[in-house]
Amino acid sequence: MRRQIIAGNWKMHGSRAENAALVETIVHRLPNSTAEVWVCPPLVYLAELARALGGSRVSLGAQNVCAETQGAFTGEVSAAMLRDVGCSGAIVGHSERRALYGESDQLVARKFAAVLAAGLTPILCVGEQLAEREAGRTFEVVDRQLDAVLDLSGVQAFTRAVLAYEPVWAIGTGKTATPQQAEEVHAHIRGRIAGRDAKIAALVRIQYGGSVKAANAAELFSMPNVDGGLIGGASLKAEEFLAIISAARS
Ligand code: PEP
Repeated sequence: MRRQIIAGNWKMHGSRAENAALVETIVHRLPNSTAEVWVCPPLVYLAELARALGGSRVSLGAQNVCAETQGAFTGEVSAAMLRDVGCSGAIVGHSERRALYGESDQLVARKFAAVLAAGLTPILCVGEQLAEREAGRTFEVVDRQLDAVLDLSGVQAFTRAVLAYEPVWAIGTGKTATPQQAEEVHAHIRGRIAGRDAKIAALVRIQYGGSVKAANAAELFSMPNVDGGLIGGASLKAEEFLAIISAARS
């Protein structure tokens, strides 16, 4: 059985005071759920939040990472640095990174490999844009994004990684994929990995992301191939995030 994983992607939100209050509420009111819980705040707050989360059941992740290990890469942060300040992993290939910062499938694959090489867990985001869905190209797009990583790191890498299916049209729009739409793509992704290794495919966790909130989480998380959620906006509200964690399948 796969353990569900709920991760909050705070994006570029928060302040030291807001973060402290949010994390304190999450830690103190964490439901008695079997779900794994992560928060992914902006980089500058990671070290401080690692201390705040110390000893709790909440893991810390970054929202991005450099593909290189060290050197003259001004403004970048390596996976080893993330590990050094207490991160358990990093999101790679979020659609905002792909669309706004021009991250290619190949760069995302290198970032994924860098996170693994540092002994951390990558959360690999894949997902199609609205025009791609409407053109019937959803599977083609997620296959291309996934294959870039499979080709570079091999299927074995997915024993130490998490996937997140995030249809771009559902991110931050309030327009959630239906549970059936999510399940269809999750099953497809699992099948794609099974094409390389059926045992690894059966164990890899695939989160759904895109306007998940307390009101729709339970239905999405009840789908057989949906193993939790990557939560944006709703992860900034303690009550909502806690309710989403409670909705995880045990
Ligand atoms: C995200 O940023 O990964 C996300 C899913 O955002 P939202 O929940 O706000 O749609």
